[in-house]
Amino acid sequence: MDRVRRSARVSSILRITSPKQLDIPALHEEAKKCFDNLFPKDAQELARFKCEHAEEAMALALQNDIHRHNQTHPRTIHPNSSDRFTPLLFTPPPTSHMNCTDALAEHWMSMVISPAIDNSAMGKPLQTLESMKGVDWVGLGLCEACAKDKIDEWTEEQAAVWETYGWSGFLIRNKML
Ligand SMILES: [Zn+2]
Repeated sequence: MDRVRRSARVSSILRITSPKQLDIPALHEEAKKCFDNLFPKDAQELARFKCEHAEEAMALALQNDIHRHNQTHPRTIHPNSSDRFTPLLFTPPPTSHMNCTDALAEHWMSMVISPAIDNSAMGKPLQTLESMKGVDWVGLGLCEACAKDKIDEWTEEQAAVWETYGWSGFLIRNKML
């Protein structure tokens, strides 16, 4: 069984055994442990984590989350990860040097926006940020320091996205952790 399928199974065990449903504490604890082992919880782990899986896991978490929210709070804001991500994608960020900001802006369309549109990046913030980090920004005219700044920013953004929409965010919101 792959990680995602396994996590889906663990997640349903978590739900079923939760105090709100069948309330089986021993099994619930066990499921929580399994869950912890399946997915990274912090940014450092995330950086090493294969992005495809993270994205799928996030999609699964969102599905479950939306389902839950629809049941209990019909007017809950749709937890759409592109809400904060879209502006980030379509606006070249400033850097510490005017030359670097210009270089970044000059290549933003071809290196970030176009590939993002081609790959339907809105639904894949972690993967998209990862490919933004993979661009050779120094080769495109940024100084080392500015390139590093941006990569750090995007890593933080990945962590923020993951915290909000990944498994742990989902579990915390549903009071399972
Ligand atoms: Zn610079």
